[in-house]
Amino acid sequence: MAKVIDVELRGIMKTFQNNVVVQDFNLQVEQGEFISFLGPSGCGKTTTLNMIAGFLDPDGGDLLIKGQRMNGVPPYKRELGMVFQTYSLFPHMTVAENIAYGLKLRKVSKTEMQERVKRVLDLVKLPNVADRYPKQLSGGQRQRIAIARALVIEPSLLLLDEPLSNLDAKLREELRDELKRLHQEIGVTTIFVTHDQEEALSLSDRIVVLNHGFVEQIGTPLEIYNQPASEFVHTFIGKTNRMEGEIVGLEGDRLTIRTTEGMIIHAGKQQRPFALGQKAIVFVRPEKIVLTDIAAGDYINQVEGRLQLASFLGSYTECEVRAGGHTLAVKVQMSDKAAQREPGASLFCSWNAEDVLVMPAERG
Ligand code: ATP
Repeated sequence: MAKVIDVELRGIMKTFQNNVVVQDFNLQVEQGEFISFLGPSGCGKTTTLNMIAGFLDPDGGDLLIKGQRMNGVPPYKRELGMVFQTYSLFPHMTVAENIAYGLKLRKVSKTEMQERVKRVLDLVKLPNVADRYPKQLSGGQRQRIAIARALVIEPSLLLLDEPLSNLDAKLREELRDELKRLHQEIGVTTIFVTHDQEEALSLSDRIVVLNHGFVEQIGTPLEIYNQPASEFVHTFIGKTNRMEGEIVGLEGDRLTIRTTEGMIIHAGKQQRPFALGQKAIVFVRPEKIVLTDIAAGDYINQVEGRLQLASFLGSYTECEVRAGGHTLAVKVQMSDKAAQREPGASLFCSWNAEDVLVMPAERG
């Protein structure tokens, strides 16, 4: 079946006072997809979302919603649901009135309005708060109501601008799961802005990684995590160990790298070709390194080191190990013996060739 494209950005550009904040943004969002715009503060996520919503007009390029060119079309003609970082509920209206507001504007009958308000309150799991005022709700509840208000108009597109970032860690996670469930249930095409890697990885069908107004990569969470298009994407998406070096061996798909500190690292198949003598950067994620008391037999990469620091972080411990001239970050589970070692202990760091990412140094 042919894919239905709900939103299309064709070479979208935006400039503020000669400052280009969005550059040549190209994207097709399929019907029912959950897409995240992920990037550091100031990379142009909100500006792009505001252009899709119609609050801002692009300076260049075409914006299409359901195949229709929307440049210059005001927000209220776009049939979008939007949720912002701040709850933006009307304080003088009850929850039910807040939710019904958009329906009133659309002249929906009273009976239908009541039914639809009830339905979305059930959907966000707050069936009993219809008569309360926003100030009588917790932050998490208010954000659920903001989501309910966006959904009640049955939008063709849901735009979420960092809707979880004002919540504390536990609530954030709860509401994140809730958003995932909601999306699975109603399947509305969603664009979600976040600077939180975990949020983007856990919620999205695809992630757009942005940096200084440029699209660095568009891909599924697994592609972004395992096949990053650039050093920026790899380092932004999670903690990593970075070592500079040179290619000293090529054998079939295998590479051998000698780091500037003299450590020899074996790497598996890479996305890009490399040449002997080429300068390269090697990355190994902390969770891919195994710590053992004695040399572990079945790893191609193994180096003896000394534990410098162990930080207990609840479900895991993050260790710093000085090994082969480098300080390696290693993530170990609490059940792991290494998590119980004292600083100064001698340990072995081991990892597989397949868990080594190599990038050409000149692309930096
Ligand atoms: P954050 O996560 O901090 O909200 P963001 O990725 O959403 O960041 P934007 O809000 O899109 O970033 O801003 C992108 C750049 O455009 C920033 O450098 C910002 O200062 C600038 N900018 C945004 N809106 C305006 C405006 N109305 N006038 C001038 N500059 C603006």
